[in-house]
Amino acid sequence: MDEMLTMLSVDEATEIVLAQTVVMGTERVAITDTLGKVLSEDIISKREHPPWNNSAMDGYAVRWHDIQSANADAPAILPIVDEVAAGGMPKQALAEGEAVSIMTGAPVPENADTVVRVEDTTHEGEHVAIIKAPKKGANIRLHGEDIQTGQTVISAGQQVRPAELGMLATAGHVWTQIYQQPRVSILATGNELAEPGDDLGPEKIINSNAFSVSGLVHESGAKPLMLHTAGDNREELTAKILEASAADIAIVVGGVSVGKYDYVKEVLKELGCEMHFWRVKMRPGHPVAFGTLKGRAGHRPTLLFGLPGNPVSCMVAFYQFVYPTLRKMQGLQNLQLSQVEAELLEDIRQRPGRRHFARALTTYDYDAGCYKTRLSGPLGSGILTSMVQANSLLVLSEERSDFKAGERVSVQILPDAVIAS
Ligand code: AMP
Ligand code: MG
Repeated sequence: MDEMLTMLSVDEATEIVLAQTVVMGTERVAITDTLGKVLSEDIISKREHPPWNNSAMDGYAVRWHDIQSANADAPAILPIVDEVAAGGMPKQALAEGEAVSIMTGAPVPENADTVVRVEDTTHEGEHVAIIKAPKKGANIRLHGEDIQTGQTVISAGQQVRPAELGMLATAGHVWTQIYQQPRVSILATGNELAEPGDDLGPEKIINSNAFSVSGLVHESGAKPLMLHTAGDNREELTAKILEASAADIAIVVGGVSVGKYDYVKEVLKELGCEMHFWRVKMRPGHPVAFGTLKGRAGHRPTLLFGLPGNPVSCMVAFYQFVYPTLRKMQGLQNLQLSQVEAELLEDIRQRPGRRHFARALTTYDYDAGCYKTRLSGPLGSGILTSMVQANSLLVLSEERSDFKAGERVSVQILPDAVIAS
């Protein structure tokens, strides 16, 4: 049968991959180990915050009734009976006509209902002169105004960012439950590969994919495990693929195409890997494979991705298939790269039949109120410079050949992209 007919679309292939993807188990860790991880439980606050009414300013705690009509011509002059700094507690409740010197964050004494900021006072020996009365209740952060005990402050499935780290601590948690981090082994294949710093022979190229793929795995929240490169021969590939399959996901880079020495397909079949697809109607990244390899008894199967060796194809295929898989495994809900609509800034022609993910530089135009996008450089699947220049992937439909400047297109925003205006 014509291979083109049996070839899957990107959407069909994605559906197959995600159907085989199982969410990781959970583990209990110190909150200091949760940055970038995904919470597997709702976080319920054990405390209220703030724990007491406290001052939002350096100033004087007063009863508003005593100072309400104070102004520069007729200041309210009150005796300073106490001083409270952050970390201290007021000695007694405030009596009528008194003031307490108070610092930001310090607990407000009982019966004080307003804090006058230092800038609106003058200090006269044992007394303070209030020269401007604020509104009643000013500059006091109320007990429990942010968080109540028993309140759900973060929902399960949320990735921990710096704000969540702070909230976990504020809510009184020292340990919490997260989804385990997937471990991803990366096996580069090819007789031509050498490592940076090696004495390169004339036939060698640098194994750049090992670096970009381990960066992609890391960026996706998972743990990369680099294996030593396998040469293009069955014995080495068999041994190395077996080694790789001990992880939750194994990525084999290169050797999945139709070249004479592309043995990965054969070796996987021999190892009993169930192959779900070998090719996808996409550009770049068309030779991309996905299979499941039965693990040891009681272990779930290892997901095995064969990514093309061309450096850009490899990255693009990762973003379409491995990135959503890793996100699903970590318990996240939004699996794909964020997608926005942008105005295309140039004409593009392509052969239809494959969805094209073109390296693009997307910006936001505030005057026009929309994103704008253009190619970030040459489109060859080995041209890494244009990937370096890109912050996004322009998604060009497989059903069309001509795209005109001015029309609206979909753009996938790369993680951590900076969108300039
Ligand atoms: P392959 O998919 O093995 O047919 O490789 C396609 C192209 O990508 C060839 O030009 C390879 O030399 C190149 N290539 C394969 N693996 C890597 C790698 N790990 N790093 C950089 N380039 C690679
Ligand atoms: Mg190769």
